Amino acid sequence: MGGYNLPIGSVEPKSLALGVDWLILAFLGSTLIFTALEKIFPKYKKQVILRDEWGLDFFYFCFNHLLISAVLLVGNFLVSQSQWIMNSNLHNLVQSLPLAVQVFILLICADFVLYWEHRIFHDIPRLWPFHAVHHSVETLDWLAGSRSHVSQVFIERSLVMLCLYYIGATQAALDIYVTIAALQAIVIHCNLGFDWGILKYLIVTPQYHHWHHSSEQPAIDTNYAAHTPLFDRLFKTYHMPSKHWPAEYGTTKRLPRNFVGQLLYPFTGYRK
Ligand SMILES: [Zn+2]
Repeated sequence: MGGYNLPIGSVEPKSLALGVDWLILAFLGSTLIFTALEKIFPKYKKQVILRDEWGLDFFYFCFNHLLISAVLLVGNFLVSQSQWIMNSNLHNLVQSLPLAVQVFILLICADFVLYWEHRIFHDIPRLWPFHAVHHSVETLDWLAGSRSHVSQVFIERSLVMLCLYYIGATQAALDIYVTIAALQAIVIHCNLGFDWGILKYLIVTPQYHHWHHSSEQPAIDTNYAAHTPLFDRLFKTYHMPSKHWPAEYGTTKRLPRNFVGQLLYPFTGYRK
């Protein structure tokens, strides 16, 4: 925004900083791309951009983006404490593979970790209130996926970072994986009625993940995967009616409708 003549100095790496630059870029980029897609290929045509609780999810978007360097610090700490499980032979083997194969391996391995992390948050009653915050959204769009309890953000990102480091792919493969994962995490929450054709059986699409957010049986506790339906099929949690979409979204028990209430919900609401 300073014009192309503005001199740009070097950016010094810092150990802990608020990710304001990351927040602004992510917000501008995401708004531009995903609201345009939602307007061109909407599933729910009457859904408006500034829908109910838009402000709450925008706050989550900002909060979780500003935490980026803290999340990275925790992830790096976890990796530094886990060097004993790292295997340089595995790293050499993976790095000798073609780039596309490396990305495929990263997607499948991260999906396995995300599947079980996600399923454990659903299956263990003491953990569910943390994840229920993410499920409390009742209108899904590109911003809805931002709603996550801060503790789950740390746990999820750290586990995936550990998995990625363990595999030891090249930097290029990691960059491609992270880009795909970040875009897919937003797309699957979008209000997108786009026909994915054969891809709907190979990757997690908006329809697939919308079923995960349904508050009706038999969709409850299904479709945990983040990237491909593979592990949901393998572990019998796959639910994908070919044409239908959910009628109801959210949790069966309503959560507080504000950030602080939801932050405390796993500690206060659970006891009630
Ligand atoms: Zn879930």
